[in-house]
Amino acid sequence: MPIRVLSPEVASRIAAGEVVERPASVVKELLENAIDAGARTIQVEMEEGGLRLIRVADDGCGIPAGEVELAFARHATSKLTDVEDLNRITTLGFRGEALASIAAVSLVEMSTRSADEEVGTLLSLEAGQVVRRRPIGRPAGTTVTVENLFFNVPARRKFLRSPLTEAGHIQEIVTCYAMAYPDRRISLSHNGRLAFRSPGTGQLLDVLLELYGPETAGALLPLLPIPDEEPSPVLVSGFVSPPALHRADRRYMVFFVNGRWIRDKALTYAVQQAYHTLLPANRFPIAIIQIQLDPAEVDVNVHPTKTEVRFRAAGEVFRAVQRQVRAALVHQGATAAPFSLPGWGERSVSAAEIAARQQVLLAAGRSAAEQALRLIPPAEKPSPEPAPLSAPRLPILRVVGQVRQTYIIAEGPDGLYLIDQHAAHERILYEQMMSRSAAGAPLSQALLEPVVVSVDFRQQDVIHTYDEALRLAGFDMEPFGEGAYLLRAVPAVLAGRQDPRSALLEVIDELERGESPLSRRKEDMVMAAVCKRGAVKAGQTLTHEEMNELVRQLEATSSPQTCPHGRPTMIHLSVEALARQFLRS
Ligand code: ADP
Ligand code: MG
Repeated sequence: MPIRVLSPEVASRIAAGEVVERPASVVKELLENAIDAGARTIQVEMEEGGLRLIRVADDGCGIPAGEVELAFARHATSKLTDVEDLNRITTLGFRGEALASIAAVSLVEMSTRSADEEVGTLLSLEAGQVVRRRPIGRPAGTTVTVENLFFNVPARRKFLRSPLTEAGHIQEIVTCYAMAYPDRRISLSHNGRLAFRSPGTGQLLDVLLELYGPETAGALLPLLPIPDEEPSPVLVSGFVSPPALHRADRRYMVFFVNGRWIRDKALTYAVQQAYHTLLPANRFPIAIIQIQLDPAEVDVNVHPTKTEVRFRAAGEVFRAVQRQVRAALVHQGATAAPFSLPGWGERSVSAAEIAARQQVLLAAGRSAAEQALRLIPPAEKPSPEPAPLSAPRLPILRVVGQVRQTYIIAEGPDGLYLIDQHAAHERILYEQMMSRSAAGAPLSQALLEPVVVSVDFRQQDVIHTYDEALRLAGFDMEPFGEGAYLLRAVPAVLAGRQDPRSALLEVIDELERGESPLSRRKEDMVMAAVCKRGAVKAGQTLTHEEMNELVRQLEATSSPQTCPHGRPTMIHLSVEALARQFLRS
């Protein structure tokens, strides 16, 4: 065949293949655009793992009516003008090819309005060609809907995995960006159901709480600059797991370079090396690590997907990461109290700014360590009240062991008991709170320092509805300007278990989800929500002593058989039932 220049159509489809490998690539590019547009709230929707539909809606700056078509032209970008700019990229996008690539292989609809214009634009494209355009009214921001991805590239469509696998990839992308940008509210829903939502508080730890739950997130160790060390031009921040907490694969190690999520085998290896000999074979740590350095020191233009970078001084970066992780592991515990990481989630940083932040981090580390020493554990005595005699009580049980880190096996005079550790603990905490409240004893524990909690209108609604009940349960708070509360005390059963801000937000979330029947009193619903957040989780390893203590406290409750939400706390297999099963009788 003679040499020919490819037609624009073929060329663009080949180029699209480099950027858009699978549905998750589309989500990544649209998310990056929304973040670059300064959006505060970003909603990602997918249907059938993104194969049928992907929609990303943001409240960012929007696109002026005169530029909407241009946004879909290849190599059209508002983020870069000359070659020099490539050395100081502070936006996530810069190649100007994502929208063109996505549009080439799908049906796209973009609705957008620039904050400076009155009227928005709705543009529809099929295989990259504009098929419709009309003005529309809408709030400032942009919504991009991508349907039937790869409808015109059957070969690619054939190689895609099941919707569930593709959904997993999308979830990974969305949660990673939520971690990198904790100041944005980023949500993901799949087939109409909310899968994940970051609270947008600006605290990485709040995102981690949402992702991993209070037990895991609360155990993570912050990375802090090492005292008495030369300040380095590479700022490393984030969290890593203590050696006792590990995972079966490397996916829980995530890295960001100046706010960009990247994959890097050498960095992954550097972190693993820091845990050398501390982890069992084939187990991997959790690590959320942000590396901030002068943009001129890193080349992000390695691959169209922009997930690979090249460091000018790679060795120095790896050493900085490894030193920092190692230091956190060595000093673990002392600095485990949560605090905010300055600068997390920003992209453009100067060397001077990095040095200044290192000072802040140092101070934060010290005060966190001091606070950890001063924190008083909440009093958690079992209920002194004798329970009503009519309630079904538990006999004295002997703990045998734990199954799947979820159930406690215990033996009693009349057979075997399988106890759900979370439900049982909920019941214990619930009765402790009820009896204290009946005795007029305080349920709340004052914070050493009040904290400001920002809430959205939805959360504010819940607070209004449950105002009095929240106060009775031990939350002491007052309105603090627009969309915020000053929190002075939390229920004692939550103190020390998790940071106060997320304690409140999680209880609100729980109330909003409202799995308790509507007929119940608000006070009961709040107490049940508080206990749910305060109780040990399924999946948590308990020592024999802890299990003994839990069972002993459960024995002392008035309704040991059910949790405050009405679910059973235990299954009883009587001696007779066992004998029957084994055909002994
Ligand atoms: P790049 O992000 O590399 O510039 P894209 O093809 O992703 O290239 O986007 C092209 C241009 O369209 C961007 O430079 C930006 O000006 C505009 N754009 C895309 N998405 C959005 C959005 N969600 N909000 C505002 N502008 C957007
Ligand atoms: Mg882009």
